[in-house]
Amino acid sequence: MENKGVLMRRYELGRLLGQGTFAKVYYARSLETSQSVAIKVIDKEKVLKVGLINQIKREISVMRLVRHPNIVQLYEVMATKSKIYFVLEYAKGGELFNRVAKGRLKEDVARKYFQQLINAVDFCHSRGVYHRDLKPENLLLDDNENLKVSDFGLSALAESKRQDGLLHTTCGTPAYVAPEVINRKGYDGAKADIWSCGVVLFVLLAGHLPFHDSNLMELYRKVDKAEYKCPNWFPQEARRLLSKMLDPNPNTRISIAKIKENSWFKKGLKSKQIKTETESTDVVPLDTDAASDSCENSSKANKAKQVVDRPPNFNAFDIISLSAGFDLSGLFEENFQKREARFTSRRPALVIISKLEEIAKRLRLKVKKKEEGLLRFEGLKEGRKGILTIDAEIFEVTPSFHLVEVKKSNGDTLEYQKILKEDLRPALQDIVWAWQGEQQQEQQQSQQQEEQQLQQSLWEQQEQQQLLLQQSR
Ligand code: AMP
Repeated sequence: MENKGVLMRRYELGRLLGQGTFAKVYYARSLETSQSVAIKVIDKEKVLKVGLINQIKREISVMRLVRHPNIVQLYEVMATKSKIYFVLEYAKGGELFNRVAKGRLKEDVARKYFQQLINAVDFCHSRGVYHRDLKPENLLLDDNENLKVSDFGLSALAESKRQDGLLHTTCGTPAYVAPEVINRKGYDGAKADIWSCGVVLFVLLAGHLPFHDSNLMELYRKVDKAEYKCPNWFPQEARRLLSKMLDPNPNTRISIAKIKENSWFKKGLKSKQIKTETESTDVVPLDTDAASDSCENSSKANKAKQVVDRPPNFNAFDIISLSAGFDLSGLFEENFQKREARFTSRRPALVIISKLEEIAKRLRLKVKKKEEGLLRFEGLKEGRKGILTIDAEIFEVTPSFHLVEVKKSNGDTLEYQKILKEDLRPALQDIVWAWQGEQQQEQQQSQQQEEQQLQQSLWEQQEQQQLLLQQSR
C-alpha cells in the first residue's frame, strides 16, 4: 500500500471488506472516475511459498474470460514487488449468506438467487470453466439485490476464515462439496458444481445446511449417502429438483440444461431470460482442458486457436509477469540495454501492424513472417554477427489495448540496440501508450523524491529546534 491509502496513484483505499490467509479485500474508489471497486490484495511471497502461483495464473486468465452480470468482474490486475492487486467489481450488498443467517428466504426470493446462480454457472460451464468451490463467501450481492459469484477459481486461496455463525462454522468443511470430490475420485467439474448449487438452494430455502455434523467422519458419511431431510415447508417441486441435484451419483445427477427446464426453476422467468445469457461481446472462448489445467497450457491453447491476423490473447498474469514490479530486472536495467522492449498501445492491432511495416520499409528491413500476431523483420545485408532479425509480437489485452514486444532474434546486439534507440522507438512514438518498465521507474523516482523531501524537512525542523534551544540558553 502506498502513502495515504492511495494505490498506484489510482485508487483510494477504504475499509477492509474481508480477509483470508493470502488475501485481504478492501473497498476502494477510482480517483479518476470515482467508481467503487473492491481490491483484493494478495501477498505474493505467501502464495509463492505454498506453490499456488500456477493456480493464480489460471484463475486470473479465467476471471478475465468470464463476463456475466452474475459474476464479479475483474477489471484489472496490478502488481508491485510484494503484492498482487485484483481490482474487482464491488458487490455492495456483501455476502448473500449474511442475509440467510438472519433467517430463511421467501420462496420467490430464494428462487431468484438460485436462477441467477444457475445462469452464472451455466455461462461458465459453456466456456469450460468450473468453479469447484461454490460456497457462502463466494456468493455476493450488488446494490440491486442481484447475485454475483466471486472467486471463480481463486477459491483455492480462500479458506476457513471466521467462526462467527451457523453458516460460517462450516467453511473449510465438506458441507458444500460433492461426494465424488470428497472421495477424491476423478470428477466432472460441471457435476460437482451442480451438487454445490443444490446445497446452496437448500440453504436459501431452509436457512440451515442439508449436511451438518460436528463429527467430520459422520458429515462425510451423510454427504456420501446424500442423507438430508427437507423441512416440511419445502414446496414439492423444489424437493424433487433438490433430490435430482443432490444425487450422490454424478452420472445420474441432473444437468444444468435440465435444471433450466424444471417447472419450479422457470417460475417468474420471462421466456427470453430462460435462454443462456451470452451477452458479452468480448468474451474469448476458453479451451476446456486449458481452463482446468495449468495456465501455461491455457496460454498455448489460446495461441494455437488464434486466427492468423488476430494477435494472441494476453492474460492478466502475463501482464503481471511482465510488469517491472514482478520482474525485478526492470528495476535495475535501463530499458534500452535489454534484449527486448515492450510497449502498450491503445491502437487496434491492424494499425500497429501497418505502423511496424511502414517503419521496417523506411529502415530497409524486409518482412519475413507475419502470422499469429508475430512480425519478423530481417536486414538486407549481413551484419557483424549475421543478418539482423527483429521480432515484434503483438498481444491483445483487450481489442483496443495491445502489448507489443520487440526483440532481437538474430544478429548483433549492439546493432539492434542502436536501431531500437535511434530509429524504432522514436518512429513508434505516435502509437505507443507507455513503454513497459518506465512508468514504474518514474513512480519509484518520484517516491524517492518524496522521501528525500520528507527527510529534508525533518532535518530543517531539527535544525530550527536546535537553533531555538541555543537562543533560549
Ligand atoms: P475472498 O477472499 O474472496 O473470500 O473475500 C473475502 C471477503 O471479502 C468476502 O467474503 C466478501 O465479504 C468480501 N469481498 C470479496 N470480494 C468482494 C467484492 N467484489 N465486493 C464486495 N465484497 C467482497
